[in-house]
Amino acid sequence: MQQTHLRRVPVLTTVETRVGVPTQQPDGAFTLHQRKRQRKRQRKRILIAVTCGLLCCLPMSSTYSSPLVKVTFSGDNGQLSPYYGEIANDLNYAAADWEKLFVSGSAATLNVDVIFDNSPTANSSSLFATPLYSLGSWSVFQQGAVDVALDGIHNPSGPYDAAIHVGTSYLTNELWFDPNPENTDSVPVNKTDAESVFIHEFGHIFGFQGYRDQSTGALWSNAESTFDVLMSFLNNAPYFTGSDAESVYGGPVPLTVGNIYHVGNPSGPGADLEAYPGDLMNGNVFYRGTRYIISPIDAAIFTDLGLTTEVPEPGTIGIFSVSLIGFWLMRRWSP
Ligand SMILES: [Zn+2]
Repeated sequence: MQQTHLRRVPVLTTVETRVGVPTQQPDGAFTLHQRKRQRKRQRKRILIAVTCGLLCCLPMSSTYSSPLVKVTFSGDNGQLSPYYGEIANDLNYAAADWEKLFVSGSAATLNVDVIFDNSPTANSSSLFATPLYSLGSWSVFQQGAVDVALDGIHNPSGPYDAAIHVGTSYLTNELWFDPNPENTDSVPVNKTDAESVFIHEFGHIFGFQGYRDQSTGALWSNAESTFDVLMSFLNNAPYFTGSDAESVYGGPVPLTVGNIYHVGNPSGPGADLEAYPGDLMNGNVFYRGTRYIISPIDAAIFTDLGLTTEVPEPGTIGIFSVSLIGFWLMRRWSP
């Protein structure tokens, strides 16, 4: 994602391997949700603070452990070590936001490799997939990161279960790390919220991935992801057709043309999913000064993928923080 100050910024690009709701006034349920989240975060911050305290007494390590993710950093020769703690912290919160919706509790800590490179933004993937079932000669796969979270089964082929590439310039010039993540501080208007970015990326790691060509939608082989199975094309436009997602959206959910493991389009089908500030998993833009969280449609898609059993009520979930009307008129990034 190319980032420019005071402009709409493109949503995260993802590797999408082979294998980004208007501001809502908190209602009672939302306030309760926030309080639960706050208490949970406070507990985690204590654990992380202890971990970081210990690390300060030890030789510099590129691995940070937290309740849900064990993060290893590479590609920077340690030069970005001042960011390690904040990144690991936000990755843990981001994984938690999805995993708290899962059908069962966290079974194991995800081993995540954070790779610093010259990516324009960030991209991510689960590093393995497991076969779920076959349809004739077709095999359907689940993202391996789900096996870690649900069943404690790690990548059998390597030390890491998932990888997240983060552009060095994107990290140092664009991302903002909330110094008080247990509350809802406003995101600076000239920065992109790192936690929102990482929630988006975990959306890919756990579910929004597949084996289709991004442009044509054609499958590369006789393998499909659980997401691919529920994708269909109408007038050459991709849609997600899971029943729960259709129920929440009111019909097939438009996916991003040319970036199909996302929802919404700048115009045409799914334009509502990109109306400011757009869905967390939209495939076009992320606004600065804005915090994104998992939307009811995102959660419903995960229900269709067999990962969750309940869809949060709209009043309990939404995208909040700063709304900058001027951003509406700013330049749109083209993937
Ligand atoms: Zn994405």
